[in-house]
Amino acid sequence: MGDKKLIKYVFYRAFMKDVSICPKCGSTNLKPATLAGTSDALPLGRGVDFNKSICEDCEYVGICPILPENEIDNFRKELKK
Ligand SMILES: [Zn+2]
Repeated sequence: MGDKKLIKYVFYRAFMKDVSICPKCGSTNLKPATLAGTSDALPLGRGVDFNKSICEDCEYVGICPILPENEIDNFRKELKK
């Protein structure tokens, strides 16, 4: 890897955001389940449930994968298969 390429890569990684994505419809229009009055879906003290989100597009409630922004298109393509 040349210097120029390496610098570009580091820069790219530093500014790439990780976003939650709905595993059902591929929307990134998610909100944390805690804020939506679904406290029954979120037993406190169980770490895995802290990441539960609600999809505002298809009403999926559950754990959503977190992807770097540039992976979102690939993920959506996989969903359609
Ligand atoms: Zn959805």
